[in-house]
Amino acid sequence: MHHKIEEIGEFGLIKTITDKFIDLVPQGWHGIGDDCAVIPYNETQSLVITTDMLIEGVHFLRDKISPRDLGYKSLAVNISDVAAMGACVVGSFLSIALPSTISRSWCDQFFEGYHSHNVPLLGGDTTKSLASIAINVVAIGMADNSSLKFRNMAKVGDKIYVTGCLGDSGAGLRILLENRLSSDSEVDNITKLIAAHNSPRAHRLEGLDLGACHSVHAMMDVSDGIASDLRHIMKSSEVGAVVELSQIPISQGLRIVSSLYDWDPLELAVNAGEDYVLLFTADPSAKFTYHEIGRIVDGDQLMWLENGISKSIDYKGFTHF
Ligand code: ADP
Ligand code: MG
Repeated sequence: MHHKIEEIGEFGLIKTITDKFIDLVPQGWHGIGDDCAVIPYNETQSLVITTDMLIEGVHFLRDKISPRDLGYKSLAVNISDVAAMGACVVGSFLSIALPSTISRSWCDQFFEGYHSHNVPLLGGDTTKSLASIAINVVAIGMADNSSLKFRNMAKVGDKIYVTGCLGDSGAGLRILLENRLSSDSEVDNITKLIAAHNSPRAHRLEGLDLGACHSVHAMMDVSDGIASDLRHIMKSSEVGAVVELSQIPISQGLRIVSSLYDWDPLELAVNAGEDYVLLFTADPSAKFTYHEIGRIVDGDQLMWLENGISKSIDYKGFTHF
């Protein structure tokens, strides 16, 4: 019998990889399992390191994203993981595989987008590809050990927050895939949603601020939708969570475009992913101006409420395979 990886899924596969290498991680280092690995730098500070890949046809379509946005997004999604640790990005590596037919100006614009983050580029690798574009970025950050936020730090009673609206990126992707660009009645809102997908803003300063804040416990970035990502915090912290759907921040643009196309904006907000806002839990006595969406509770279940009433829906979020 040949078993395929789709049977165990993305996270099942990561678990089998983790188990094979657990014996090799040095004392005091944090390896697989959070937004970044953490390596001690000196007595009081650590380096954090993350890597993310963007594959043509899987993560982007060449004719639906400008080279500038693609360069911008390649680094943004990695900066987001650094910010999610409460760290400050200090450098990056970029490896890129390109078909030989790609134009010089495509490359110039790609690197202009990448450069616009003003993060030093420290190395990488450049190769030919036979057909599709493949991009891999490594980002490095630095943090005081006392500022580091892990996924396993959530405590029962914590409030759960997100630092920005959810669902815009997922809606932008759907607009691109369904070729809805010609609908000009809501062109400004449509353009905003596409921009949320093609050039997401990493919450770099928010991550630094929240890192420095001791009442913040667990933190991660939202790349797969909170239905999936909140479960990572729950699993690592061995807690449950309750989310109030009416408190999930949904942009005016997403509301308008969803009603135009008869989409469920909540479903996009919870499942679609690639929003790259930060999801964190904090001591209930602390005050934040961010969007409070729920509570950490005892147990291991994720419960959805709609205006205080339990709603039995099975939101799953995005996974590969
Ligand atoms: P994120 O969305 O924050 O980038 P992922 O969900 O992609 O995180 O990955 C979860 C964890 O698994 C991370 O700590 C990541 O470094 C690790 N991971 C993912 N794929 C691999 C792999 N092929 N080998 C080793 N570690 C991996
Ligand atoms: Mg992440």
